[in-house]
Amino acid sequence: MTDEKGIIRLRPGKEESLLRRHPWVFSGAIASLPSDLEEGDTVAVYDSRGNVLGAGHFQIGSIAVRILEFGTDTLDDDIYFRRLSSAWSLREALGLIRADNNCFRLVHGEGDFLPGLVVDIYGDTAVMQAHSPGMHFARRAIADALTRLPDARIRNVYYKSETTLPFKARLDPQNEYLVGSFDGAVAIENGLQFNIDWLKGQKTGFFVDQRENRRLLESFSAGRRVLNMFCYTGGFSVYAMRGGALQVDSVDSSAKAVALTDANISLNFPDDGRHRTFAEDAFKFLADMPADLYDLIILDPPAFAKHRSAIKNGLIGYRKLNAKAFEKIKSGGILFTFSCSQAITRDMFRMAVFTAAARSGRRVRILHQLSQPADHPVDFSHPEGEYLKGLVLEVE
Ligand code: SAH
Repeated sequence: MTDEKGIIRLRPGKEESLLRRHPWVFSGAIASLPSDLEEGDTVAVYDSRGNVLGAGHFQIGSIAVRILEFGTDTLDDDIYFRRLSSAWSLREALGLIRADNNCFRLVHGEGDFLPGLVVDIYGDTAVMQAHSPGMHFARRAIADALTRLPDARIRNVYYKSETTLPFKARLDPQNEYLVGSFDGAVAIENGLQFNIDWLKGQKTGFFVDQRENRRLLESFSAGRRVLNMFCYTGGFSVYAMRGGALQVDSVDSSAKAVALTDANISLNFPDDGRHRTFAEDAFKFLADMPADLYDLIILDPPAFAKHRSAIKNGLIGYRKLNAKAFEKIKSGGILFTFSCSQAITRDMFRMAVFTAAARSGRRVRILHQLSQPADHPVDFSHPEGEYLKGLVLEVE
């Protein structure tokens, strides 16, 4: 402890990762910190020789500081507006802001140099999640900056951090509108419409990270019988319908998710008899269904390994799930299989799926290797930002 206000000093040699612009300071790297420091405070971080490394948000835990600006000891008032403006410009450059596409991720935490913050855009509404106390305290400044983005015309900002902030910080965040008040909208993704319920839905209400993978699925759908496991809002199902699938069956264990899927199918394809939903456990559904029924299967489960400690069991889960699909898919069928577990690497996932394929005795070829889209950028200095991986496989 020291009494230097807002200053954290590192132990010798512990500045290395910060010099490479990795934005996290782990608690074990700290030599001294002020006695009056509170969660969410802005701090300046110095190396053991007194050189300034950067400024960021402090929190109690293994990640003690998230650096927002390198090479300086203060954060200026304008930082959120600057970062959000450049995030917006990137999405514009990526061609994501169009009349037929108004939903995308505007801020992907460290990938947009705003560690601890996620913002998804649905038309004129921004849904914001804080993962750090610092971002929680900055929420009003961020909401204000969002409404000032000149081309964005954001009219509502919904703050949804009840489940994302560290529980121990006792911040008691309320999910609430910081700006405006509008409780739902139809978002447009690649010309398809989706009801987005950020008040009651999972995460920010929709999984925008599968947008490009859904589009790829559409191109495989013509004339196929499609099974969309873990369908949630039915994203993949709606694309399969547009792609000309003969039949699309969507499965989710949550009755609410199945209702969302039904609503989204009706919104885009009213009175179209090709679609059915099943509120059932995915493993049971796969075990009970007859073989050779489907020739296009999507497996997009929730993260099976939320932490490193769960990697082993997570991999067993992926192996078992994929094994069932290999056992049942029709000859010549296509499998879209995903993992969104950050702790499970691309190689680990690939090995789990390979093991499942090998045990099935079927010949399997990799057609595409998929990842998260460009509006979920990964800072080279922060590889932890990579989480979504997928394979498109052809099963002989
Ligand atoms: N594919 C979706 C996102 C999937 S999120 C999309 O493109 O938007 C994961 C979903 O899996 C959730 O909706 C959750 O309700 C469902 N789920 C979790 N465990 C399940 C299980 N054992 N069987 C079926 N569905 C499950």
